[in-house]
Amino acid sequence: LSSNRLPLNNPTSVAPVALITGITGQDGSYLTELLLDKGYIVHGIVRRSSTTARNRLDKLFYDGDVHEKRLFLHYADLDDSTTIRRILISSRPDELYHLAGQSHVGASFEIPETTCRFTAMGTLKLLEIIRDLDKQPKLLHISSSEIFGRPDTSPQNESTPMRPVTPYGVAKTFATQMVTLYRNSFDLFACNAICYNHESPRRGESFVTRKITRAAAAISQGKQDSLSLGSLDGRRDWGFAPDYVEAMWRMLQQPDADDFVLATGKDHSVRDFLDAAFQTVGLDWEKYVQQDARYMRRSEGAQLVGDPSKAAANLDWTATTQLPELAKIMVQADLDALK
Ligand code: GDP
Repeated sequence: LSSNRLPLNNPTSVAPVALITGITGQDGSYLTELLLDKGYIVHGIVRRSSTTARNRLDKLFYDGDVHEKRLFLHYADLDDSTTIRRILISSRPDELYHLAGQSHVGASFEIPETTCRFTAMGTLKLLEIIRDLDKQPKLLHISSSEIFGRPDTSPQNESTPMRPVTPYGVAKTFATQMVTLYRNSFDLFACNAICYNHESPRRGESFVTRKITRAAAAISQGKQDSLSLGSLDGRRDWGFAPDYVEAMWRMLQQPDADDFVLATGKDHSVRDFLDAAFQTVGLDWEKYVQQDARYMRRSEGAQLVGDPSKAAANLDWTATTQLPELAKIMVQADLDALK
């Protein structure tokens, strides 16, 4: 990892330039692959920590044709405004994908201040930096279905009132409304991708889908005997992350900045996901799963199902991977990792 070293040969050719915050995360890594495939030069901002949480990018990082030629990583925390400004000034991105933030809803009850510092204030700081730039990139902010909390209507669309019920949801609501405010008041090309849950083999291990698929794989190989979960009744609209980063890119190719709900439009319970995952390995989950109060939430969103019809109409996008296939892809990847 180069520390804020910028390419001296940043080509002035026609290759579009993207900057990604949260590049080491699930979405950041898929988006990087998508943009490199499309011929972009990609800059990514990486949080400095004592461990290198960069494994999702490792394949690209060790690819001599890509790393430091078309992919550049820079260290900064989201609250290092000066450093982030410097990276923006030197990399001169056409598109900025703001994906970084503390993204675990359950953890946001334990660390609400950190959640707000990065997710809420981090976004405002970024908007303030962009506002002052001569060359202003188009901005995509990844928002979340958690902004709706417990909505009156289901499915939700771009005009459903925001009524968050978790610290993460409150922080995302602040960030989402600031993005809209800067679009309207300062004429920035700034968009919110209101994403429902999207999963993949790269999903963090503490999210319920990945926790389940890793356990299904390990139990089937005799490497684990049980799985502790919280509420099995929680319902979510679960899609496949690579589908979602495609929509994010399409949003920035539109003539005007706008907000879009990105979702499958179908909701399932944690039980449904357990059924699909354990079916892949031919086991009955009820024999292995126990409920544990540690994983119960103080409060959580309910009836969160997205209406993706605006994205279908304007972006020509639909989430094509549905839950049974998603669970299968994830279990298979976890089985491969065990071998
Ligand atoms: P998010 O909360 O929607 O961002 O996604 P999660 O994957 O963390 O949680 C999805 C649903 O699974 C919620 O309704 C959780 O309450 C429920 N859930 C049940 N057991 C667990 C668990 O052990 N871990 C997590 N993370 N969620 C769980």
